[in-house]
Amino acid sequence: MSTAILPQASLLDAHGRVARDLRVSLTDRCNLRCSYCMPAEGLAWLPAPQVLTDAEVIRLITVAVAWLGVRKVRFTGGEPLLRPGLAGIIGAAKVLRTDQGTPPELSLTTNGVGLDRRIDELADAGLDRVNISLDSLDRERYASLARRDRLSDVLRSLAAVEAAGLRPIKVNTVVMRGVNEADVVALAEFCLARGYRLRFIEQMPLGPRHGWDRSRMVPAGEILAMLEARFRLTPAAQRGSAPAQEWLVSAADGHPAGRIGVIASVTAPFCAACDRTRLTADGQVRNCLFSHTETDLRTALRAGALDDDLAELWLGTHRDKAAGHGIGTAGFQQPARTMSSIGG
Ligand code: SAM
Ligand code: SF4
Repeated sequence: MSTAILPQASLLDAHGRVARDLRVSLTDRCNLRCSYCMPAEGLAWLPAPQVLTDAEVIRLITVAVAWLGVRKVRFTGGEPLLRPGLAGIIGAAKVLRTDQGTPPELSLTTNGVGLDRRIDELADAGLDRVNISLDSLDRERYASLARRDRLSDVLRSLAAVEAAGLRPIKVNTVVMRGVNEADVVALAEFCLARGYRLRFIEQMPLGPRHGWDRSRMVPAGEILAMLEARFRLTPAAQRGSAPAQEWLVSAADGHPAGRIGVIASVTAPFCAACDRTRLTADGQVRNCLFSHTETDLRTALRAGALDDDLAELWLGTHRDKAAGHGIGTAGFQQPARTMSSIGG
């Protein structure tokens, strides 16, 4: 149900930031159990009736793109490939037009398991880009970190995305002390050789309770030092609202030139340039990963709200967006939801 009453608005907050990038979590479930993200036994999954239907997801994406100035949509989770209607949702999002008159840029953040079998269908539906999470190239370390022996599946999917021609392929790696530091240089060499853009991510306090300790986190500076010992790096141009600080890697013995990024969410937060808004699988809008409040669009939508009403609720959430996540400050508290339930 839509109206044409509302003029195009922007998700502007009190600190002057405008959200253009929507993260949509399509499920809180996952087929892996990465130790920085979930406990081995999994989590208490959302009851099915609370999860938005495909039509409801499409309706809310439409509100964001058609009325609220969103230009990019990233599908995530949990594991978004577990959502049977993913291709249909992508197809419906691709026919929308942004405030600039263009289709929204559509991307997927995935662990890659099974993507090789789906990539052609997803690309045909309108998917533009893929980020694949890969924390180790060593089968045993991967299996121990993800608690599932699926490294070969992920490598197959990377090759399939490459063959499907989706570019650039980004690879996300969370570095954990004493777990996969040995993979930093190996992953960089692997990605440079194939033209993938690797981004190392500082571990954030968004996984299992009490599973994060700042003093044990591998900070961006340490990751960079490991890279500098092997590669010649020069800082790439200003990152804008992109979370990764990027480095250009010069071609040298055995590897071509390329780019590597480090996402220092904890030690050098990019909150001042944040342009994200988030929709959870159960229809809650969040203005920040670390927010303690959410706005319930699902109940409003199921009660018959018009697009205007939904857009107003969404705008209100963003007016209150905090200046920063506050990790490291005295009052910081981890949000009740984990990364997998919010949508990373
Ligand atoms: N399952 C998909 C995947 O793994 O790519 C999408 C969801 S996952 C929550 C999205 C991203 O969040 C992944 O790149 C994952 O590595 C990252 N992530 C999860 N927990 C994290 C944490 N505690 N700190 C930093 N990044 C985390
Ligand atoms: Fe699943 Fe992604 Fe979390 Fe790993 S990081 S457990 S793949 S949701």
